[in-house]
Amino acid sequence: MRIQFPQVELNIYNKNNPVEVPILSSEVATSAASPNIIRHITFDLSGTELEGKFHAGQSIGVLPPGITDKGKPEPLRLYSISSPSDGEDGNGKHHSTTVKRLIGEHWETQKLFTGTCSNYLSSLRAGDIVKVTGPSGKRFLLPENAEDFNYVFFATGTGVAPFRGMIKDLMKKKHRGEIALIFGAPYRTDLLYESYFREVEGTNKNFHYIPTISREEPRADGSRPYVQTQLFDRQKLLYPILKQENTLIYICGLKGMETGIIQGLASQGLEEYLTFKKELTGDPFSWDADEMKRAVKTGERMFLEVY
Ligand code: FAD
Ligand code: NAP
Repeated sequence: MRIQFPQVELNIYNKNNPVEVPILSSEVATSAASPNIIRHITFDLSGTELEGKFHAGQSIGVLPPGITDKGKPEPLRLYSISSPSDGEDGNGKHHSTTVKRLIGEHWETQKLFTGTCSNYLSSLRAGDIVKVTGPSGKRFLLPENAEDFNYVFFATGTGVAPFRGMIKDLMKKKHRGEIALIFGAPYRTDLLYESYFREVEGTNKNFHYIPTISREEPRADGSRPYVQTQLFDRQKLLYPILKQENTLIYICGLKGMETGIIQGLASQGLEEYLTFKKELTGDPFSWDADEMKRAVKTGERMFLEVY
């Protein structure tokens, strides 16, 4: 089955030519109070060249104010669009993203570390003005002939953002194929867009929502449930979907999750999703991580956005 991606416009606005837009709304996106603060933030793009231009899976750039320690202007940060391609409003004027405040203890100084842009963006209120750029990204998209495929989406944390948009696009097209969303979060309180995914699950028998909570109930062998362990724990459901020739895999979120997914696919003989630059032998779970990075790449039916 040929995969044809839509033609998308890129960088209509860039870091040297950003556009100022108001924040339309900003709401906590987790279903319950969580120490991880994640917000669903909507930009009003009305009247700009960005109206109607974003596709689910693309990212918007945000230019925070201020100067870095090196005396340079703060660089641009990218945020995945979590709205469907026609926006939250149905006309491509209101697009959203899903932002996690980066907060931690500084690795060396032990002082409070707060990420610049995620905290700037999360503190903005409706009506505040922000400099944005984009659209960015031309590979992490649904195919133009989206209805011809099944989808297995793997997300960790805010990596679920593009899949909310893609699933909304697929639902609008009354997609008939199988869709599995395997979503990893540390605690139940960190699940994002839970009510939307449950609603789709309730109304579409081909949609399989597989939340994967890592820190509550360990697996039988004592290990943490991760999105890749669902390849085994939910094998009965996932394997027949993955075996179909028109199934596509999309992976978004934490860097490192792809390693486990590749090992899980290879150990089940699902090598059609992978490209081997060099033959690797033995149990995929015993492959050396560095060697694997050099030897195994994504195949034509697998798309990756991790960092
Ligand atoms: P920064 O001020 O830039 O700080 C981050 C840096 O600090 C990193 O170099 C990191 O190594 C370092 N650091 C982190 N923790 C510590 C610590 N405890 N001590 C010392 N150093 C530390 N993010 C989202 O929330 N949602 C999205 O949808 C999203 N989509 C993205 C899409 C793409 C294509 C890309 C590339 C990134 C995306 N991101 C997303 C990440 C986002 O761009 C920012 O990187 C993130 O918000 C952190 O930016 P910041 O300015 O808050 O942190
Ligand atoms: P998080 O809440 O810290 O983690 C989400 C889940 O992933 C947790 O259950 C975590 O388990 C689990 N996990 C940790 N290591 C893993 C591994 N190697 N394999 C599989 N699962 C693993 O996630 P987050 O802080 O929201 O981070 C999401 C990341 O996605 C960020 O780096 C963000 O910048 C990125 N992101 C990328 C894009 C994009 O590229 N378009 C879009 C949005 C977000 P434990 O912690 O319990 O071990």
